[in-house]
Formats: sequence, structure tokens, C-alpha cells
Amino acid sequence: MSRSAIDLRSCIRDIPDYPRPGIVFRDITPLLLDAAALSEAVRRLAAYGAPRAVDFVVAAEARGFILGAAVARELGAGFVPARKPGKLPHETISAEYILEYGVDALEVHADAIGHGANVLIHDDLLATGGTARALCDLVERLGGHVVGCAFLAELAFLGGRERIAPFDVCSLVTYD
Ligand code: AMP
Repeated sequence: MSRSAIDLRSCIRDIPDYPRPGIVFRDITPLLLDAAALSEAVRRLAAYGAPRAVDFVVAAEARGFILGAAVARELGAGFVPARKPGKLPHETISAEYILEYGVDALEVHADAIGHGANVLIHDDLLATGGTARALCDLVERLGGHVVGCAFLAELAFLGGRERIAPFDVCSLVTYD
């Protein structure tokens, strides 16, 4: 199969009623198992970042780490893990975001991103945009510039793009 013929959507598995009734979980593990699809996804996410002079990829724990580090490697950029509270060992800054029930938070090391650095935001999936918004806020508080937000998949009907406006968004697979 030629690279351009790879249908990434067909490599993402729908799991109805997971983790709760009414949620369709978009499981990316079949895509990760498929060497050609994995390579294609990383190549296309990196192609979005390439003209943006990316210094760092910032990605959310945990599924964002998988492709995020590979994209950073492809771009010749550094990688910054945004982790759940208490997981990073050095001084951190934190951003809270709202979940369906309650709040959660992500942290990055306070010295992770230099002033003026160009940052590509990455997560596996954009849903309501709360996670990505928190990542953008962390980057800006550290003096970085968000040059784009790249996702494998997007649940467009949840309005995540609007939540992270005015930052530019790229998603490889869209669910309307
Ligand atoms: P949000 O903050 O609402 O944009 O949610 C995005 C985060 O939640 C990402 O880290 C996703 O991995 C995860 N997520 C939300 N909804 C789904 C879903 N339907 N399938 C898979 N992951 C999801």
C-alpha cells in the first residue's frame, strides 16, 4: 500500500460505552500496532509542524507522549511532557481544566521552555479542548509562542477548536 493510501481513520477503533455509558472511546492502539499507519501519522503531524520552526513539542500525559515524542524527533525539536500533578520532580507550574465532573490539572517544569520558544501542542485527541487549552496556557505563562496544535483525531462536534482559538489546529481524523 502506498503511503498516501493509508486510511488512518480505519486504524482507530471505536469502543462504545467506555469508560462510561454514552461515550464512544476512540482507541488509537490499533494504529500504533500498524507500522505503516504509525509512520504515516507521525510524518503528517510533523509535516504540519515543519514550516513553523518548532523548538519544542509539548504533549499531555499519557497518550500524547506516544506520537508527541516521535513528532519532536522528526522535527529535530525538543519534547516537554505535561504531567498530572505531583509526577514531575523539579519546580513546576500548573494549569487546571474542567472535566465533566470536577477539575484536573497538568504541570510542566518551570524551566522547560525558554522565552520566545516556538511550541507545537500535541495530544492524541481533541475533544472539548480543555486539555489543549491548559497546555497553551502553560506555554504562554513560560513565555513560549504556541505556533500550532496538532492532534491525531478531533471530535469536532464538541467545539474544541473554539476553546483553543486563536491558535491554529490540525487534526488528521475528524469525527463530525
Ligand atoms: P478534552 O480535554 O475534552 O479535549 O479531552 C481530550 C483528552 O481526553 C485527550 O487526552 C484524549 O485522550 C481524551 N479523550 C476525550 N474524549 C475521548 C474519546 N472519546 N476517546 C478517546 N480519548 C478521549
